[in-house]
Amino acid sequence: MPGLLRLAAVVSLTSRQSTKPSYDAVVIGAGHNGLACAALLAKAGRSVAVFERRDRLGGAAVSETGIWPGYTISAASYVCSLLDPWLVEELELRERGLCYYRKDPYAFTPLLDGRSLLLGTDRAQNAREIAAFDSRDVAGFEAYVERTDRLGRALFDSFSDDEPRFDRFDPETQTLLLGSAAEIVERYVSAPVLQAELVNDGLIGTYLGPRDAGTGYVLAHHLAGRLLGSQGSWAYVRGGMGSVSRALAEAAVSYGAEIYPDAAVERITLDDNSHAIGVEAGIAVRANAVISNAHPRTTFRELLDSSLLDAPFIEKLNAWKTIGPSLKLNLALGELPNFSCRPGTNAQPHHRATIHVAPSIDYLQKAYDDARTSGESEEPLIECFLQTPTDASLAPAGKHILSIFAQYFPYDRAGGWSTAKREAAADTIVATLARHAPNLPSAIEHRQVLAPPDLEARFGLIGGHIFHGELLPGQIYEDRFATRTPVRGLYLCGSGAHPGGCVSGFPGKRAATAVLADFAPAAF
Ligand SMILES: Cc1cc2nc3c(=O)[nH]c(=O)nc-3n(C[C@H](O)[C@H](O)[C@H](O)COP(=O)(O)OP(=O)(O)OC[C@H]3O[C@@H](n4cnc5c(N)ncnc54)[C@H](O)[C@@H]3O)c2cc1C
Repeated sequence: MPGLLRLAAVVSLTSRQSTKPSYDAVVIGAGHNGLACAALLAKAGRSVAVFERRDRLGGAAVSETGIWPGYTISAASYVCSLLDPWLVEELELRERGLCYYRKDPYAFTPLLDGRSLLLGTDRAQNAREIAAFDSRDVAGFEAYVERTDRLGRALFDSFSDDEPRFDRFDPETQTLLLGSAAEIVERYVSAPVLQAELVNDGLIGTYLGPRDAGTGYVLAHHLAGRLLGSQGSWAYVRGGMGSVSRALAEAAVSYGAEIYPDAAVERITLDDNSHAIGVEAGIAVRANAVISNAHPRTTFRELLDSSLLDAPFIEKLNAWKTIGPSLKLNLALGELPNFSCRPGTNAQPHHRATIHVAPSIDYLQKAYDDARTSGESEEPLIECFLQTPTDASLAPAGKHILSIFAQYFPYDRAGGWSTAKREAAADTIVATLARHAPNLPSAIEHRQVLAPPDLEARFGLIGGHIFHGELLPGQIYEDRFATRTPVRGLYLCGSGAHPGGCVSGFPGKRAATAVLADFAPAAF
């Protein structure tokens, strides 16, 4: 694949230490947002260097090889919707090899009584699937889609606001976003399995249950994407999620940016006026603008002397909710899961959908309640996705990859995390899925368990939170960290800034826009 070859050249060219003493801008971290920011600045003619602590690029949008022979796995994120279509055009990402396919059908829930629910873009087929549970829900579902499309559109439009403010939304919209995901879903449909399938997006990454206030926002956030031209659709990215980062890195380098993997930034340097003037990353590098893709706690506590910050800011940093409940389990399979309700190990439509196991909202609420009381879910929230029926190049011939995203397995679980607890959590998840696909345990040839402390250690996600902190009221819009920080010359371009997490590129674009506005060409 030409894109892959081109990037291999980029990395080998840039994986030595920076030799330039100064740049217009330095970016701390080569997550997809740092790369998007660097690409836009470089395209605008600025000299830019990116320093990444890992030996590979992309942060949580990464395709990793070498874990198991012949496999490429999306170790963290695995599907895409929120990536800003403007970035795709502006940085010519498709020309650089980015290719994505609509996930269709998009959601599948097997049930233990032999029934199942499969939803996709075919309205007539959806109607048949839904009517098998409750014929009144056919119209209810259409109304739900219409309302949540409007909700998602409203969020998307707010993602580029100069000054993010929650009160930009009308009172009805605010009520929905501040309420629970369950309230939104239950307004429109009644069949428990349909309710559960729809409410799931309100819980992703969030340490709350479906009936808790604020999960309405999380639901809407996951329906805000427009990558595919239709509101809220999700896509599978060819080559895994690292292909997004790879295309962004290629763009950045093509416009002149330099990218240094294996180059952790140890400190942000300041002048006598406490303005950011560069970084130390093995060597001292100066820059007019320092842009951090790292988690806000890393940026302001580890890389900066926090005594510079005023008390309210430090209070916000300390109070920032960033305890993640999500565990990623990546499996290599010798054959596809054989679901009792839709038998067969040949690739069928349901194998291309996101697979859920929750039969009702109550199941998901119990998964959360169990974690709060005992440290983990007895029967977890599970959503999983098989990449290989769409992209066979990711695994050896005839083999498959199952990406499993599970909750609730909180970072701060009582008694802490040990190897035995990680393996036990993975066993619980496999056993839960195996009730629907009994061949699963014997089909597993390799497994990788990434509990929240592993997400922290591997990707720098403090507290294991997949979004650099909860995406809940109190931490969104004006209450998220601002792109322009209290330290002059220092900017945030990661998910800790508006509009928060997911593979979107918006925080990176916002930071590039701010830097270009603050530094006229002469100032660089
Ligand atoms: C398990 C999991 C599943 C997910 N699933 C999805 C999904 O399917 N779809 C979706 O849209 N989103 C998903 N997400 C969320 C999404 O991946 C993240 O919100 C997004 O990738 C964050 O991008 P970022 O660029 O803001 O930050 P990160 O990806 O966190 O990048 C920050 C970068 O900064 C680097 N860094 C940190 N400190 C330093 C330092 N001192 N010096 C140099 N570099 C440093 C880090 O190594 C990292 O590369 C998932 C996340 C996880 C963890």
